Amino acid sequence: MAIRLIRKEPDEVLRKTSREVTAFDDRLAQLLDDMYDTMYDAGGVGLAAVQVGILKRAVVVDTREEGERYELVNPKLVYKKGEREVTEGCLSVPGVSGYVKRPEKVIVRAQDRTGETFEVEATGLLAQAFCHEIEHLDGGLFIDKVTEYIDD
Ligand SMILES: [Zn+2]
Repeated sequence: MAIRLIRKEPDEVLRKTSREVTAFDDRLAQLLDDMYDTMYDAGGVGLAAVQVGILKRAVVVDTREEGERYELVNPKLVYKKGEREVTEGCLSVPGVSGYVKRPEKVIVRAQDRTGETFEVEATGLLAQAFCHEIEHLDGGLFIDKVTEYIDD
């Protein structure tokens, strides 16, 4: 377990497309464990592997609500419904927050660290976090879709 360096905008790695995970091995488990440590240390609710410079399709999310802790390997958004405006920020874009539109409800299909496929339905902050993290895997940042920035 270790805290890894979080890459910050404009680090170009954040704009790269992450690769599918095919090896569900000790290195993947170590990466996910380190991602949890790094996310908790930074006080975030989600982290994608690309944010620690690893171009693998893996994310961790913990909204701090009971039971809302997930690791998603090769996640895909398979359903979304509704739209709501939310405030958002990102550990890779420190000190910046703004309004973005996110679905009210999503279903994500993913694998766990052993390669087992599962689906999870989410609303609210959990749905928001899933969308935000999955976008990281294709080089997206929330600032690409901000409708209005919020002054601190
Ligand atoms: Zn982010």
